[in-house]
Amino acid sequence: MKFTSPYEALSSIWGYTDFRPLQAEIISNVLKNKDTLAIMPTGGGKSLCFQVPALCMDGVCIVVTPIIALMKDQVEQLKQKGVRAAAVYSGMSNQEIDVTLDNAAHGQLQFLYVSPERLKSELFLERTKKMNISLLAVDEAHCISQWGYDFRPSYLEINEFKKYAQNVPVIALTATATKEVTNDIIAKLELKAGYKVFVQSFSRPNLSYFVREVEDREAKLIEILEKVRGQGIVYVRTRKSAKQIAEFLIRYGVSADFYHAGLSHNERNLKQEAWMNNTYRVIVATNAFGMGINKPDVRVVVHLDLSPNLESYYQEAGRAGRDGIKSYAVQLYHNQDKDELINRVKISSPTPETLKKVYQSLANFYKIAVGSSLLISYDFDISEFVNAYKLDYLETFHALKKLEEQGFIQLAESFYHPSKVKLLLDHMELYKYEVANESYEPVIKALLRIYGGELYSNFHIVSEKKIAIYLRSSLAEVERKLNGLHKQNVIYYDKRKDSPQITFTTSRYDASKLPLNTKYLQERRRIDLERAESVIEYITRERTCRSVMIQHYFGELSAHDCGICDYCIEKSKPSNRMEYDTKIRNRIFEMIRQESKTLQNLLHDVPELEQEDWIMVIRLMLDTEELYYDEHGFLHPAGENNT
Ligand code: ADP
Ligand code: MG
Repeated sequence: MKFTSPYEALSSIWGYTDFRPLQAEIISNVLKNKDTLAIMPTGGGKSLCFQVPALCMDGVCIVVTPIIALMKDQVEQLKQKGVRAAAVYSGMSNQEIDVTLDNAAHGQLQFLYVSPERLKSELFLERTKKMNISLLAVDEAHCISQWGYDFRPSYLEINEFKKYAQNVPVIALTATATKEVTNDIIAKLELKAGYKVFVQSFSRPNLSYFVREVEDREAKLIEILEKVRGQGIVYVRTRKSAKQIAEFLIRYGVSADFYHAGLSHNERNLKQEAWMNNTYRVIVATNAFGMGINKPDVRVVVHLDLSPNLESYYQEAGRAGRDGIKSYAVQLYHNQDKDELINRVKISSPTPETLKKVYQSLANFYKIAVGSSLLISYDFDISEFVNAYKLDYLETFHALKKLEEQGFIQLAESFYHPSKVKLLLDHMELYKYEVANESYEPVIKALLRIYGGELYSNFHIVSEKKIAIYLRSSLAEVERKLNGLHKQNVIYYDKRKDSPQITFTTSRYDASKLPLNTKYLQERRRIDLERAESVIEYITRERTCRSVMIQHYFGELSAHDCGICDYCIEKSKPSNRMEYDTKIRNRIFEMIRQESKTLQNLLHDVPELEQEDWIMVIRLMLDTEELYYDEHGFLHPAGENNT
């Protein structure tokens, strides 16, 4: 099917009557074969911006998007609407990929979704030559920028791919782009001259932002949930607190459940579905929750911990009030959270020195001599390594990730997805099982001894090697036992895909001469720290509308006070307004008594965000003749010219 006008596609495929703000403009730019960058908040309707024009063009639209689950969702939704769409991602068999690409080459597909790693595959590029590509859509385009908060190196492959799709218009879409990132997207995707950037406002007129420094977060949370009715999300940083807070809420009569990436796929789906259907009221979750969730009637999102950047905060908080009805986004914090956040960021963005230290330890660990040959793989157990050199676990984890990013080592997938175990029986059942199955008793005892009772309620990362050492048994034997327990439904054993290995991809360097991209590492660290500082500024800055701060952060300088955040509400209380104005008035007198000034002089050192207030007070003072202008445009306090 091909449509002659965007409106026709909109109504017959989606059944919608109108475009949302900017959608029509963006679509028409694409249909002029011009390159486009669309920056719209989450939920703003970015997908339609490439789906609608593609349905009005000949050929197949290639959509690059990073998250496989979301990719499958979108393809499924298009198919249900009768649109011919398919996806290609890692994890599919070669045969499946082959058939799908064939279909695209033969003109049988209107949309082909691909994950960025696919783009460089020989097979893919070969078939691309045969495809009639209508449009290249790059979703989550901020992933291409090293300065973005979610850089994915595979996005850099897109430009290489573009050589195979010359003269195809490009549309890049993202919900977050500071000025730096916007420029980077344009440069990295080499958008053609004449490209246009569309920015949708980040203001959320029905969302009321609140920030509170509190001693007792839990008590405050209950208070908030008593005041605000309706469905809610509570974001926490760790899996452990997700569970604890949910239990706490239930104890206080709030129906709640928890959600995090440590749960099985099935459990997560069930919990999410139940919350979507209002079976319970509050979902307490880590940041694993929310991607692709589009529940319109969320009334409140509370953050109990600080986010590492305003991009994530805005996205998570913004899940409240999608239906346009008044809703709340609340951030609670302890004073010490600020330092904790900075430390966290420092650890996840290690310095070149840390990288060298970890590299040197690795070389010592495996006794690799300087200059020895490359591409040798070794068994690798991070906890063993960390213990051997008394390194900090998290710092080492991030340093290894960075060493991999910079091409010195390669880590097996199990480094990122290690084995996990959860007990499926309760204490009594387990006891009975052990009595009846003696041969499994040692491994169960070892699990509990090493990982503790938490295994009863949560998935826990386990190291088969550690268990083997504990039992003085072999790795193969431990794996066999764990598999056996899994088959008998005693434990859930989420086994790693490959054996945990590390490969040195270069010959061994002298650590002090390791050719790191130091500039990038330092810049990255600086930017990450700056982002964290923006979050701290958001929670601590006084006398600025919260919404204005967020909008300014995203480069929207024309923002106006929202009127509904905690600051705006406080400001509008008559007593505060007067006190605030009096402060400004006194400042003005002080300044012009020292030396008469023009309005420009006066405002020169006033923070941009407060200038509007100053101008208002000055106008009032001119009206009441407390101030006057002389013929040169200088301000004087009344009465001064009489002397
Ligand atoms: P984004 O990618 O910007 O986060 P989506 O493209 O996923 O947003 O769209 C969010 C929701 O808004 C989807 O359910 C979509 O169908 C809906 N939507 C998009 N455009 C319109 C429109 N013009 N009219 C009504 N609903 C729309
Ligand atoms: Mg989207």
